[in-house]
Amino acid sequence: MDNHTEQLADGVWRIELSFWLSAVVLANDGRGDAEGLTLVDAGTQGAGPRLVRSVRMAGLDPRAIGDVLLTHWHTDHAGGARRFADSSAAPSVWIGAEDLPVLSGAQTPGEAATDCSAVAGFLHRHVYRPPPPLSGAHPLPDGHVHAAAGGVRVVATPGHTAGHRALHLPERGVLIAGDAVMNLGRLRPSPGLLSSAQSQIRESIERLAALDFTVLSPMHGPPIDRRARERLAALIE
Ligand SMILES: [Zn+2]
Repeated sequence: MDNHTEQLADGVWRIELSFWLSAVVLANDGRGDAEGLTLVDAGTQGAGPRLVRSVRMAGLDPRAIGDVLLTHWHTDHAGGARRFADSSAAPSVWIGAEDLPVLSGAQTPGEAATDCSAVAGFLHRHVYRPPPPLSGAHPLPDGHVHAAAGGVRVVATPGHTAGHRALHLPERGVLIAGDAVMNLGRLRPSPGLLSSAQSQIRESIERLAALDFTVLSPMHGPPIDRRARERLAALIE
């Protein structure tokens, strides 16, 4: 295994795509790739080769990826999804319903922002580019349990984007937080400037802090495996 890939729990691998961005691979049977793999986030549009190489170096077959769960539409998470959707394995792509219109190209990022500040609104209209349009993605409902790594429960955590989803793996004690929080320098909530509705972020973090887990894996910055729940809860004290 290379130093870009880290096993977080049984059947759960974190893949570092760049020094600030990661994706997660889950074994559907909780171990290897025999029963297929699930990918959580697909990185930027150009992340594909690195992602495929890292999955291989973890001893897994990237062609076994059957489902791609996207935490949200931002291009650094969903940009690589079309490459997987177009591959011969033809995986299914899943994303929060509120983020589906941006992923499909039916809505612009500016239209997707809700109560953000003027600066955030400007960023969403002019700086955030939508990922390559992808049709045929499925909505990922709150509370849905995806069959991988002992069960992946979908947790609606709006604020960073309207359809943002975190993924809780209670059997593995892992919380994949998406961008609800970031661990760049220190653990912090999704910054208001990068968020579509800052007013919802606190409530979303409260929801996550009430869950049971020992490893917290944000998509930006390293995972936290010591006092993870306490450190998450401290953000909203
Ligand atoms: Zn984001």
